[in-house]
Amino acid sequence: MSTATAEKPAEAHVFEADVARLLHMMVHSVYSDKDVFLRELVSNAADACEKLRYEAISTPSLLAGDADTRILLTLDADNNQLIIEDNGIGMSRAELIEALGTIARSGTRAFMERIEASKASEGAQLIGQFGVGFYSSFMVAERVDVASRKAGEETAWLWSSDGKGSYSVSELDPADAPARGTRITLHLMEDVKDYTRRTKVERIVKQQSGHVPVPIKIADKAGEEPSQLTDGTALWTKSKSDVTKEEYTDFYRGVSGQYDDPALTVHFRAEGRHEYTTLAFVPSTQPFDLFDPDRKGRMKLYVKRIFITDDAELLPRYLRFVRGLVDTADLPLNVSREMIQESPILSAIRKGVTNRVLSAIEKQAKDDAEAYKTFWNNFGIVLKEGLYDDFERKSQLLGLARFRTTTSGENHRSLEDYVKDAKEEQKSIYYLTGSSLEQLQASPQLEGFKARGIEVLLLSDPVDSFWVMNAPEFEGKSFKSVSQGAADLAQFAKPDSAETEKTPEAKAEIASFVTLAKEQLREEVSDVVASDRLTESAVCLVASESGYDRQLEKILAGAGQLQTTSKPVLEINPDHALIKAISASGSNPALQQDAVHLLYDQARILDGDKPADPRAFAERMGRLFEKALKG
Ligand code: ADP
Repeated sequence: MSTATAEKPAEAHVFEADVARLLHMMVHSVYSDKDVFLRELVSNAADACEKLRYEAISTPSLLAGDADTRILLTLDADNNQLIIEDNGIGMSRAELIEALGTIARSGTRAFMERIEASKASEGAQLIGQFGVGFYSSFMVAERVDVASRKAGEETAWLWSSDGKGSYSVSELDPADAPARGTRITLHLMEDVKDYTRRTKVERIVKQQSGHVPVPIKIADKAGEEPSQLTDGTALWTKSKSDVTKEEYTDFYRGVSGQYDDPALTVHFRAEGRHEYTTLAFVPSTQPFDLFDPDRKGRMKLYVKRIFITDDAELLPRYLRFVRGLVDTADLPLNVSREMIQESPILSAIRKGVTNRVLSAIEKQAKDDAEAYKTFWNNFGIVLKEGLYDDFERKSQLLGLARFRTTTSGENHRSLEDYVKDAKEEQKSIYYLTGSSLEQLQASPQLEGFKARGIEVLLLSDPVDSFWVMNAPEFEGKSFKSVSQGAADLAQFAKPDSAETEKTPEAKAEIASFVTLAKEQLREEVSDVVASDRLTESAVCLVASESGYDRQLEKILAGAGQLQTTSKPVLEINPDHALIKAISASGSNPALQQDAVHLLYDQARILDGDKPADPRAFAERMGRLFEKALKG
């Protein structure tokens, strides 16, 4: 047993460069809402208690002598100190250095970049999300001492720093250390002394941490008998009618590390074959890591109120914005974190929770279009991933999806709306994929559809190209790209046209133009056809009936996943003056050939591509200009 070795000189350490930068920022930019430091420290203390309870399942002796975990706040106005102590898992010397002196977490750099780019007021809101909570103590303290004794170990350690570039670590006299766990002493800065005022601290804790699942006690002086501030009752075990909106919001903030209000709260107890409770929230703003490819879900798994893991993937990836927890008594407490993924009980729970969350989203879509619009703007792009990879729920997700269309204006339309307003003879749901809404709106491929009053979905997210390929029918209608295969628009009447049957001469002229274009463009296109897809433009490109849609092909080629790309079909508008003029320019074959190639390049440009051969394009254009200008 180590005895009084506190005289051993403290070892000095220099903070990792990132930590130093972060601390500087913490003190100088993140000043708007200092209260958050307390929430972060209480949350760390609660995590430490939960970790201990988990470890104690396999090593009960860790709880020896002190089975009830708790968090104790001690106010010391005389010495200008606020002390946050827990009897949780504690930290060894190496852990102190690792956890409080280095930042290995990937979120940290992202955090700093966000802070530097954002308003100070946003800064405080970001702390919890990025897992840099401990350092927020330097917003209020000129010195922070962390005394810690790891559960089951004899030796205790003191970490100490003024947050200005270095910290020290020394062995602590066991008599001065907590019997188990961590005691954080904040030596408060002059201007924030009131964090030793009981009313203030009580109010902040109740407000911010009222529902951490570990009881919180408070004492006015060290050694004084503390009184209970919160009872540590797990909020999710209460019945829905006993929980207020404020309590849910507070709990949501704690569990998510976000400071917004939940847009949706899903709280239910499943009974029957499997018993579990879920408390899940849909945020009202996008979490910063929504598109981080490594980010797994953020749902916590509890077994009989003991925190087991936040890595159990309780919801599918396309619901990764949902925050919350599942608590079940059906899994054994000693289930290993590794085994959990395979558990059939867990997959049943996963399914149940997913259904409940989706029905809550569905209900909002039905009852509150305005709120749903915000939801869709935040998370629609993520939810659409499910259209691609959740085979069983494709139809349900299609019902939830919202789209910009040729008739939607600034609004979104549901497929239900689409089908309701479709033409009687319409068998398909038409769509066009592309890289931006602006590009889509200007696409010549849409002209024939617009002219006939047929609505087309405008799909501009990359994920759209993938799901739409294998989308199931929606209310009996299949999905059809307007830039692939024949447009079969002839079946729809064009309201404003006096379309007359073309004369045999006109038909022959079109046929000979098509032959000419095919001959000239045989390297570039697979076919040239006259179509009714166009009304204003002279030409456009479409993909052939079989194979990939053009946008998907571009995405795959861009990602290096395609060896060869297929040649598109060039569609021409036989009624267009330009086509007629080129067709009639046979007396000048060189000019006619230039014009045909330029037509093709024009179609490419309208598709968001470059001319096939920029140099040849420029030369042809030059020759044509010259001719036109010379008259
Ligand atoms: P986060 O809690 O998001 O990981 P923090 O900066 O708040 O980030 O804490 C860093 C790490 O320090 C924690 O992950 C934990 O390992 C350790 N830590 C902080 N406070 C405590 C505590 N009271 N007891 C045990 N470990 C702690």
